[in-house]
Amino acid sequence: MAKYDYDLFVIGGGSGGVRAARVAASLGKRVGIAEEYRFGGTCVIRGCVPKKLYVYASQFPEHFEDAAGYGWSVPPARFDWRRLVANKDREIARLEGLYRKGVEGAGGEAFATRAVLIDAHTIRLEGENRTITADQILIATGGRPNPHAALPGHEHCIFSNEAFDLPELPKAIVIAGGGYIAVEFANIFHGLGVQTTLTYRGKEILGRFDMDVRRALHKTMEEKGIRILCHEIFTAIDKRSDGRLDAHLQGGEVLTVDQVMLALGRIPNTEDLGLEAAGVERGRTGEIIVDDFSRTNVANIWAIGDVTNRVQLTPVAIHEAMCFVETAFKNNPTRPDHDCVPTAVFSQPEIGTVGLSEDDAAKRFAKLEIYRASFRPMRYTLSGRQEKMLMKLVVDAETRRVVGAHVLGPDAGEMAQLLGISLKARLTKDDFDRTMAVHPTAAEELVTMYKPSYLVVNGERVE
Ligand code: NDP
Repeated sequence: MAKYDYDLFVIGGGSGGVRAARVAASLGKRVGIAEEYRFGGTCVIRGCVPKKLYVYASQFPEHFEDAAGYGWSVPPARFDWRRLVANKDREIARLEGLYRKGVEGAGGEAFATRAVLIDAHTIRLEGENRTITADQILIATGGRPNPHAALPGHEHCIFSNEAFDLPELPKAIVIAGGGYIAVEFANIFHGLGVQTTLTYRGKEILGRFDMDVRRALHKTMEEKGIRILCHEIFTAIDKRSDGRLDAHLQGGEVLTVDQVMLALGRIPNTEDLGLEAAGVERGRTGEIIVDDFSRTNVANIWAIGDVTNRVQLTPVAIHEAMCFVETAFKNNPTRPDHDCVPTAVFSQPEIGTVGLSEDDAAKRFAKLEIYRASFRPMRYTLSGRQEKMLMKLVVDAETRRVVGAHVLGPDAGEMAQLLGISLKARLTKDDFDRTMAVHPTAAEELVTMYKPSYLVVNGERVE
């Protein structure tokens, strides 16, 4: 008779938890997984997937406009928000089913309930009204939007969770934040015809990205009609008698809008999980502290994904899950590799990026060659759209290694995936130069920039 009910019990059915449960079960382990809301987690249910569907929806007005230059007459278009929400719900329900089925198909047991640790090997399944025991426990409970409770009137605000399912499309919205979520949703709402304002506390949106890309995106978003207020924060949100909201800004302006959305970062879901009872340590922001192998201070308890607040990205959580299975069940200790993670911001235009920004690279390397091209993509020639595409390679002059690649423009996310391979393989600018261009594409610029646009020597730009 086995000592525990399960070899592995996973708390949290998002991308990381489900992957770990499925792969461990397929190895023949006795696996259980509990999810209190919906299998699929943030990414599938109220994050990446619905977001991308809404990005597509919001791009149609520009496609209709661009069609004219290619000879098409498009009759005035109408948009039905509720139909979009309903179609999104159908697709999400389909994916949710696949996630659950994936675990069960591999032999795992899925529970639709909250799970709470009682001690290091015991878990209470609240909805089932029983306790189970497990040899290894994996916590993958993810995160949630920072509620920003210090803001007077924060209770009137929405977050990305609610933005997907608003009963009506607002006429006007103001979004606070300058990160991925704020920027992506500003573009989505604007594209759907909502009067959109973005407020950001810092100097320029998208803090961790290359400054050229940040500035160029800011300019293009403003040209499209999105109002962006930097160095600005809300001081209070008031509900008016007509049901609309007054957002008071530090600078004195009051914006009257239908919705105020806060996208001010995300915090780990670690409350009321029984972490204290099990002796699991948390850090300053509530995140579960783990070692290089995703193990907590309690030897049989592990944590992966956003709850550990390392890199808050779905593919990273999945990678951490795979490494966890290698370490815990295949006798092959494997550290997740968080270096050189490619990423995309599904703004409009899109950002695709991997490696170091020019500013960060300048702190690490004495001499950089910067290759930079800004041009109007071919698809905009007949449409007359003036938007420019930007491509930039940051090269360590000494080794010739490409240490950063940044793209702003259509399909930049797709390009970032492939650039990610090149940079992970530590390819040099000479490898890029040796690669034949694919013509006519926008991406060919990445292998045809022969001369540096400028150098950066000891942190100083040299023309
Ligand atoms: P981000 O960390 O990207 O951005 C948070 C923003 O909120 C920053 O601009 C930050 O400003 C600002 N901020 C934080 N605290 C305050 C405050 N007290 N007052 C005013 N402004 C504040 O978080 P998001 O919420 O946008 O997204 C969460 C995570 O989800 C991201 O880090 C990303 O990893 C992931 N994500 C990924 C996506 C993708 O891959 N396409 C899409 C969406 C989310 P400052 O810059 O000054 O710190």
